[in-house]
Amino acid sequence: MRIDYLTLFPEMFEGVLNHSILKRAQDKGMLNANTVNFRDYAENKHNQVDDYPFGGGQGMVLKPEPIFNALESLQQTAETRVVLMCPQGEPFTQEKAQELSEAEHIVFICGHYEGYDERIREHLVTDEISIGDYVLTGGELPAMTMTDAIVRLIPGVLGNQQSHEDDSFQDGLLEFPQYTRPREYRGMNVPEVLLSGNHARIEAWRREQKLLRTYRNRPDLLEKAELSEQDRDILKRYRKGIEK
Ligand code: SAM
Repeated sequence: MRIDYLTLFPEMFEGVLNHSILKRAQDKGMLNANTVNFRDYAENKHNQVDDYPFGGGQGMVLKPEPIFNALESLQQTAETRVVLMCPQGEPFTQEKAQELSEAEHIVFICGHYEGYDERIREHLVTDEISIGDYVLTGGELPAMTMTDAIVRLIPGVLGNQQSHEDDSFQDGLLEFPQYTRPREYRGMNVPEVLLSGNHARIEAWRREQKLLRTYRNRPDLLEKAELSEQDRDILKRYRKGIEK
């Protein structure tokens, strides 16, 4: 996968791209990540990238020329995903991360100041994405967050030790509780079932824990998750238990 970041702060990416899984993905040749400072593509003497909003109002707006020019300087294909980082965009989810992990080329446009000239949104982008209902100063942290979530899903990037198959959201539910050694810590014990060696019982316990945790922390997810009759019974019993 190739990823290009159009940004005014390319240095912000160094720490994230040069460590852990993202570094390993690049070392293995699975990720080619590049930053492009769109200030270099401004069309005026002072390399100005922003200007006052027409109609008046607070703050500065990113001008179209630097971003159009920077994007046109990149080699793209018909399949290139041009992602505008924007709090007004579609909420980023694990499902969207999965979809984007199959792309060959992604360009992230990282905004700043008050936002973008609307012609950028209308004419350049394939996706507008928000990482949550809050407003950050710039699109760099959102683009890095998305990169991490996307790249770890590319087959072969995570080793067996860090598989993503049981992760929260993969099947629409939250993950089950995990324990490791020691069996007993300060009087707190690991659930007996996990030490039983009985794989069927362990699987059943984990499924139940996933359902209960999702019900407790993110009941909204249950509306979309694929649930069996048995899952529904477990939830019904749990709800009754709570109501008593
Ligand atoms: N005035 C804009 C609005 O109300 O929609 C917010 C602009 S924000 C201060 C500057 C830039 O940060 C945005 O253009 C975007 O690139 C990025 N940004 C801020 N919050 C974000 C979020 N939740 N998701 C994705 N990008 C975000």
